[in-house]
Amino acid sequence: MKIQSPLKDLTLVQIVRRFDTDAKARAHLESVLWKDGIVCPHCQCKDQTKFWSIAANPAKKIRPGLRQCANCKSQFTVTVGTVFEDSKIPLHKWLIAYYLICSSKKGIAALALQRFLEIGCYGTALFMSHRIRHALQDTTFAEKLSGTVEADECAIGGVSTGKGTGFSGKIPVMAMVQRGGQVRSKVMPTVNGANLKQAIRDNVKAGAVLNTDSHFGYRGLETEYEHKTVKHMAGEYSRHEGENVVTTASVEGYFSLLRINGNCAAWMRLLFIWRKNMAGRLSIAVLCQLKIL
Ligand SMILES: [Zn+2]
Repeated sequence: MKIQSPLKDLTLVQIVRRFDTDAKARAHLESVLWKDGIVCPHCQCKDQTKFWSIAANPAKKIRPGLRQCANCKSQFTVTVGTVFEDSKIPLHKWLIAYYLICSSKKGIAALALQRFLEIGCYGTALFMSHRIRHALQDTTFAEKLSGTVEADECAIGGVSTGKGTGFSGKIPVMAMVQRGGQVRSKVMPTVNGANLKQAIRDNVKAGAVLNTDSHFGYRGLETEYEHKTVKHMAGEYSRHEGENVVTTASVEGYFSLLRINGNCAAWMRLLFIWRKNMAGRLSIAVLCQLKIL
């Protein structure tokens, strides 16, 4: 039986209808980010009796959704601490921009964003585009990968692409693929044991089955993971262990996808992976949960 995702897919028409005003977009953000009650972003106070709303008044420059915290005597709105903070772009345009960026197969140019969202200046559209892409890379609140996870690293870009020691002029990228599940990818300043292990610990649940090649950088994870290695140097690419297959074929498949557009910036490639994860289950609630919003 096919398990239905509880997350609702959204079309562009639906999202534009749902967030046709700023008030609706703000109410939605509040319901997601403050689902367990308001939290003051300045002092982290959660005591609901300490907050009160201040009525919007454009003449006095009092913005909609403003709250006062009695605990620290500061004012805030739901956008404080998010990528929307200090932005004059209407909130509903931000939400639609997320949709456009996450759902477009080939990414979307800032110029197109400017035109679709009727944004006055190109620089503003570019700024939105950068902020959203930056936020898309933040997986702090994403659930960790589990089950069987394949990890590998490679160099992308430059004159030639490939794996091995030739990282000069290329972008080192590490990826982790949960079999039948999501992908996490990360640009690494340096590929070394400390960075590789840190990325695994940040993204893969302890106790998961971890499949890698025999790169020295993955050594030392045996106590936290069921670590299996394939010895590429010895010509081994997969082997059966009972019902399980030890291989890194899935993660290598993802690298092949990344290499298709060899000249794009690294974050564009990462975004591609994110879009793949989002495919078919795009929801503003998910974006919020992942701290993308
Ligand atoms: Zn406070």
